[in-house]
Amino acid sequence: MERLRRQRASHLLAGTTLPRMRWGPENPVCAECGFDWAVPASSAIDIVAACPATYAAALAGVSPRPAAENGRWSAGMYLWHVVDVLHIGVERLWTITLDPDTGIPCWDENGLAAARNYSMLSIPVGLHALRQATANWVTTATTTPQDLTTRHDLFGELAAIDILRRNAHEVQHHLLDITGRSLS
Ligand SMILES: [Zn+2]
Repeated sequence: MERLRRQRASHLLAGTTLPRMRWGPENPVCAECGFDWAVPASSAIDIVAACPATYAAALAGVSPRPAAENGRWSAGMYLWHVVDVLHIGVERLWTITLDPDTGIPCWDENGLAAARNYSMLSIPVGLHALRQATANWVTTATTTPQDLTTRHDLFGELAAIDILRRNAHEVQHHLLDITGRSLS
């Protein structure tokens, strides 16, 4: 269902090629970015905590590309996507602690990119938003008991540690999307 929603959103973007999202650990280690899906919570938190600095450095060295150039999102679009990933990650952790029975719905990253007009948003403001989102995420991640669970529309039962790992992977993977590097 989530995949169908993403496909529908792609039509709305009319020619903008979309990032291929990694929704979960299909393999023990991501073949593209090297993320280890078994990392402990402390390592996942460290990856996210470092991202304001790593993203600022990456964006200082990479000229933002037009949204549809070479069929890829621009660097700025990835930045704003990660800002929203961390915002939503915090809300998901709050769901686990405050209202786990309601569960976690899927969200459409391409629809959100279109609705928010990522390609038109400021990179300096995005880096500021990333610092704020990261601080909130780290505080929430550090204080959420890792074994608490809720249910996700697509993935079934998810523990807090699963959300931490997914968010940390997004941070690490999209940094490579920005710099254009690959470990594979
Ligand atoms: Zn990856």
